Amino acid sequence: MTLPEQRRILKTAIPGPRSVALQEQRTAELAGGLGVTLPVFVDHAGGGILVDVDGNHLVDLASGIAVTSVGAAHPEVARRVADQVERFTHTCFLVTEYEGFVQVAAALNRLTPGDHDKRTALFTTGAEAVENAIKIARTYTGRDAVVVLGHAYHGRTLLTMSMTAKNVPYKQGFGPFAPEIHRVPSPYPFRWPGGPAAAAEEALGQLREVITTQIGAENVAAIVVEPIQGEGGFIVPPPGYLAGVADFAREHGIVFVADEIQTGLARTGDLFACEHEGVVPDIITTAKALAGGLPLSAVTGRAEIMDAVGAGGLGGTYAGNPVACAAALAVLEVIERDGLVERARHIESIVRPRLEALQAEGSPIGEVRGRGAMLAMEFVRPGTLEPAPDLAKAVSDDCHAQGVVTLVCGTFGNVIRLLPPLVIDDDLLEDALTVLEQAVRRTYA
Ligand SMILES: *Cc1c(COP(=O)(O)O)cnc(C)c1O
Repeated sequence: MTLPEQRRILKTAIPGPRSVALQEQRTAELAGGLGVTLPVFVDHAGGGILVDVDGNHLVDLASGIAVTSVGAAHPEVARRVADQVERFTHTCFLVTEYEGFVQVAAALNRLTPGDHDKRTALFTTGAEAVENAIKIARTYTGRDAVVVLGHAYHGRTLLTMSMTAKNVPYKQGFGPFAPEIHRVPSPYPFRWPGGPAAAAEEALGQLREVITTQIGAENVAAIVVEPIQGEGGFIVPPPGYLAGVADFAREHGIVFVADEIQTGLARTGDLFACEHEGVVPDIITTAKALAGGLPLSAVTGRAEIMDAVGAGGLGGTYAGNPVACAAALAVLEVIERDGLVERARHIESIVRPRLEALQAEGSPIGEVRGRGAMLAMEFVRPGTLEPAPDLAKAVSDDCHAQGVVTLVCGTFGNVIRLLPPLVIDDDLLEDALTVLEQAVRRTYA
């Protein structure tokens, strides 16, 4: 299929009549717990455009939550997937094997930070990768406790929602939660009581204190950190924090797990966000962008840690599905061949100055932050730190009405995050930013 025209085109109101009709059916048929950001039904997509069932061309600044970095219909992904589907769709890797699984593992062992001996296990969802990282770390250390951060997001399964910080909508009513999860403060520079310059050192001090006095370092299996917190609000840890956590973990025999499910694979302008600070995690989890939209996740780590679990202890019926592996091999090739790490930096060079100029106008943007093609703005009541989720929602709704797909995130629901496909055209991106600027100006000018 040819790429849809890479231009924003509005033929109807958003959502259009066909989407509205489908939405009525959805409401009648689907469980109410399934939310939606923009009730528009997509017909086809590609590059930076989603074409809906009413023929509108929407600019995609979400990438299905950082998944379709190579676009939602990259020809190389489509070709490899079609070829694999014709050969076979499934064997269960635990029953009989196939080469794609091994090739994806080899690529991740090669590409992830650190040149130590590594091993990889593939799964299906991000939450499953995090769960398995914990299973592996617990077996390796013989310890139970898991330390996570405030504002963390790690998934929706019992263990990972227990690790997730935010109550509504992720946890409310879903307890009791998994035991042995301990939370330490996230060094959120914008909101750190002692100011951003003190955040790294003070947060590290609190982490050390909680672990040594409350849990006992000898009881901690893993510390799990997102190198940039995603759902929590695109919170970039202050310089030195990640390295400090990694050092503390090493000192105490704790497995340092970097959850790079949202940040990984070129999104932040490096292949992995840990690399910005030269931090080498013991275990790294990946998913989202890994297979261009097909469900695939991975746990990659030091060989001696990964091999701690005995044969049969890890797996899953669909883990490392061959169609998803074929897609991942295409994605990893496209990232290298088409220079998507550099593309992410180029996107930052376009987006960041425009967001910063918008902030400087006196708009209710408290902070512009993020890295590469993972940028966000946090809305507050002017001159205060008081979150303004109503403004973030108003801006996002306005963008949606104009055919630009934006996402809100953050513990306080007051952050608009931009996650364009890394292959988006410059002109299309500039057009979407103009829509976004106008939407922000309407909230205060
Ligand atoms: C999305 C996400 C997950 C969960 O991935 P699923 O595929 O939705 O289970 C875990 N960790 C982080 C950092 C994420 O962004």
